[in-house]
Amino acid sequence: MLQCTEPGRIFIDITRGGCPCACRYCFVETGKEFLVTDEEIASLPGRLSAHSSYLPGPRGTLLTFGSNCDLFRTPGLAAGLIRALGEVTRLGNPIQISTKHRVRRVWASRIASLRKFKTQVVIFISCATISRASHYEPRTPPPEERFDSFGVLRDYEIPSCLFIKPFIPGVTDRDASTFINVVRTRKPDAVCVGTFYLSEPIVERIKVSRDVLSEGPKHPLMKDSTWVVRPERRFINSLEVALPQMSVFQNSACVVAYLQGAYCPTLVWRNFPALCVGCQDCDALYKEVIPAPALLDKATAGQE
Ligand code: SF4
Repeated sequence: MLQCTEPGRIFIDITRGGCPCACRYCFVETGKEFLVTDEEIASLPGRLSAHSSYLPGPRGTLLTFGSNCDLFRTPGLAAGLIRALGEVTRLGNPIQISTKHRVRRVWASRIASLRKFKTQVVIFISCATISRASHYEPRTPPPEERFDSFGVLRDYEIPSCLFIKPFIPGVTDRDASTFINVVRTRKPDAVCVGTFYLSEPIVERIKVSRDVLSEGPKHPLMKDSTWVVRPERRFINSLEVALPQMSVFQNSACVVAYLQGAYCPTLVWRNFPALCVGCQDCDALYKEVIPAPALLDKATAGQE
């Protein structure tokens, strides 16, 4: 249920099986997903506390939902997510949820009521392409329908982010002006362009040019055939020029940190400086609370 592939972030998966959304660029196996049991969901706080990488609290580990399946796909999955949030929001950690489905009002209302502070939960509405969504994301709602969530989330004061992920070279960049228009009209709180993780089967499936692979390093923690392809600078520049009032983030942990006015929990400015857009002075924010992580660690050891 818990996976940690980078310091400062733990991915929480409350399903088993695959994902029926079948996005062509995705590394998750296509198949029906099944919620874990209520008992397993109830065990999340205990599992997190026992995890060697976990730090509790608003400056603690970023908890990320929705990377292995889409928890707003059905009312049943959303109910499972809300149960899980009921368990983990009380730990006080920042929480990220990603989705390609519409966030219904009733779900937004429940999530808003579970938060311990206003920016605790940030919802990322994902989209890799607008004009070619029916080809690349065939079993997800049309992007325009997903973008309706921005208005719903605003009504409940839940921070939101347009998550342009993954950046598919030759596909995503063609929609630059449409994405800019979405930000201007739908008004998400942030915009983030995400990395593309490419394995051999995905390269074959979407017929991406092999030229882009030579530019990307292999992912150190994923399967050894996974390349990390970063978004093109030209695409980011076009967004930055058109949206001067916003930072165009390149890492989702940075979005959450910025919206909370906290240092980035995955220490992007130190560990991946090429992805840092300098939205704030993370180093100073970090030094302000140091040695809080160590103290929190000790405090946690004595807790259940
Ligand atoms: S200053 Fe850099 S590391 Fe910190 S949140 Fe902003 S982009 Fe991320």
